[in-house]
Amino acid sequence: MRDVVGRPAVTADVTILGAGIAGLAAAIACARRGHAVEVIEQAPALREVGAGLQIAPNGARVLDALDVDIPHIESRTVALVDGPTGRPVLRMPLAAPFRLVHRADLIAGLAAAAKDAGVTLHLGQQVRRVTEAGLETAAGLRPYVRLIGADGARGASRAFVAPDHAAGQGRRFTGQVAWRATLPVTDWPHETRVQMGPGRHLVLYPLRGGDRLNIVGVEERADWTPEGWDIDDDPDHLRAAFCGFAAPVRALLDRVETVKLWGLMDHGATPRWTRGRVTLVGDAAHPTLPFLAQGANLALEDAWTLAARLDDPAAWEATRRTRVERALAAARGNATNYHLSGMRRVVGHGVLRVLDRVAPGVMARRYDWLYGHDVTKG
Ligand SMILES: Cc1cc2nc3c(=O)[nH]c(=O)nc-3n(C[C@H](O)[C@H](O)[C@H](O)COP(=O)(O)OP(=O)(O)OC[C@H]3O[C@@H](n4cnc5c(N)ncnc54)[C@H](O)[C@@H]3O)c2cc1C
Repeated sequence: MRDVVGRPAVTADVTILGAGIAGLAAAIACARRGHAVEVIEQAPALREVGAGLQIAPNGARVLDALDVDIPHIESRTVALVDGPTGRPVLRMPLAAPFRLVHRADLIAGLAAAAKDAGVTLHLGQQVRRVTEAGLETAAGLRPYVRLIGADGARGASRAFVAPDHAAGQGRRFTGQVAWRATLPVTDWPHETRVQMGPGRHLVLYPLRGGDRLNIVGVEERADWTPEGWDIDDDPDHLRAAFCGFAAPVRALLDRVETVKLWGLMDHGATPRWTRGRVTLVGDAAHPTLPFLAQGANLALEDAWTLAARLDDPAAWEATRRTRVERALAAARGNATNYHLSGMRRVVGHGVLRVLDRVAPGVMARRYDWLYGHDVTKG
C-alpha cells in the first residue's frame, strides 16, 4: 500500500529498527499491549553468532512474562579458579539460577513469539539514516509513527538521537580485548567457571545439552583493536595469552579452531534516549561492557518497561536511567577484579578462600539489587 505521494503507507503504529534481543523483545511486549508492530532488520535472515549468553534472573523474569521459553542450562554456581595453578578460589552459590543459552536459540525463540503476537518482520532492509521524516532505505523513505531504535551501539538510531555521542564523544578503549570461541565437550559441569590470572581471565560455561563449551577470554592490552564482534583472529593468539595457565585449560584451548576478537570500548550510556518520535533501547541506549553479563538482560528489561510507558518515553527514561547507569558502572568496576597479580593476587585470593568457608553466599549477594530486581512487577 502506498500514500498519495508514492511512499509506503504506515500501517504500524510502532516501528522497531533492529531484530536483535532488544528489538524482538520490544516487539513482543508492544504487540501484547495492542500495538500494531513492524520490525525492520538489515540481515536477510535471522542468524546469530554461534556463541553463548548468560541470562541472569532479572532478564529471565522478562522472558517468563513474555512467555518465551528458550532451551537452556541452569547454572546455580559460579566457580572462581586460579588460572595458573588450577586451584579453586571460591564457589559462589547464586540466589537464583542463571540460564546459559545459545544466542541463536534466544533469537529464534523471540522471533517465533513475535510472529505469534502478530508482529510483521521485514528482513534484508538496511536503514542508511534515521530522520524525523522516516527511515532512509535503498527503496526510498519509510515513514513511521513511533520508532524504537534497537539497532545496537553502531546503529543509525543512536546517530540520530545523540549524534556527538555516536560519533565517539566520550568513548574510550578499556585497555582490554576479548576473544570468543566455542568447543565440543562432554560432561562439563552445569556452572560458570572463571579462570583468573594476572592481566587476563577466561569465562567458561556449557551450552545446549552441555555438549558445547562457550569460551570468552579477556586480556589487558595497551593497543587498540577496531571495534566490532566479528573480527577473525588466529587461535594461536588466544593460546599464547593463556600459555601460563594450568595444563587442563591449555589442553582445552589447543582444540580451538576459530576465534573472534574484539576490543572492549566503554561508551557510557547514551546521554539522551529520545529525540522526537524516536526512542532508543538496548545497546543503542547503553552499550554495556560484558563483565557482569548484563547487556542482553538490560535490553530485555528496557523492552518490557518501555512498552508499558510508550505514551511517555521521557518518563520512562527518567525512571530507568539510574538503574541502567548503576549496572554499567558495576560492570566497569568488575573489569579488572579477576586480573590481580603479585601480592594483590595472593592476598585477594586468600580473602576469597576464607569467604568461601565462612560466608559462601556473600559475594553473590553484592548484586542482589541487580539480579533480584523484577521489572515485570509494578
Ligand atoms: C562476547 C559477548 C558476550 C556477551 N555476553 C553477554 C551475556 O552473557 N549476558 C548479557 O546479558 N549480555 C551479554 N553480552 C551483551 C549482549 O550480547 C548485547 O548487549 C545485546 O546483544 C544487545 O542487543 P541489542 O538488540 O540491543 O543489539 P544488537 O544485538 O546489536 O542488535 C541490533 C540489531 O539491529 C540490526 N541493525 C543494525 N543496524 C541496522 C540498520 N542500519 N538497518 C537495519 N538493521 C540494523 C542488526 O543487524 C541487529 O540485528 C555479550 C556481548 C558480547 C560481545
